[in-house]
Amino acid sequence: MRIGFGYDVHRLKMGRRLVLCGVEIPCEFGLDGHSDADVAIHALMDAMLGALALGDIGAHFPDSDERWRNADSAELLKHIYALVCGQGYSLGNTDITIVLQSPRIAPYVEDMRRKLSDVLSVDVACISVKATTEEKLGFTGDGSGVASYAAVLLVT
Ligand code: MG
Repeated sequence: MRIGFGYDVHRLKMGRRLVLCGVEIPCEFGLDGHSDADVAIHALMDAMLGALALGDIGAHFPDSDERWRNADSAELLKHIYALVCGQGYSLGNTDITIVLQSPRIAPYVEDMRRKLSDVLSVDVACISVKATTEEKLGFTGDGSGVASYAAVLLVT
């Protein structure tokens, strides 16, 4: 077994799409970034890479590379998970937490779990997605950004 942990932050930006765990959430603002800025999938990918000591997503998908402009992070996740499987591991389970003040994520959590289970071809029971606020404190609380944490267990 190998354990990994990932963390990511993206800045909020008016007029951008808000995509979390591959699910687009209707909202007047989204997240700024080189790719689609899916902060939750980025944390998940970093956790998978961390579990196998394969570096981080910045090394695998540099934001200086035009190939990744507005990239669909779900496609990037498929690429990372193929690396994981190529090393003889598969996902045991993952637990993802998304930290933001608004909008409310709870209505989308089941869609997010299903989306990730489709992308990875794993049982939805392996995937936990939770959301929380930081009680209007800090950069997530004042609406400057969204953070996400992911823990991953990989098994042979
Ligand atoms: Mg990121």
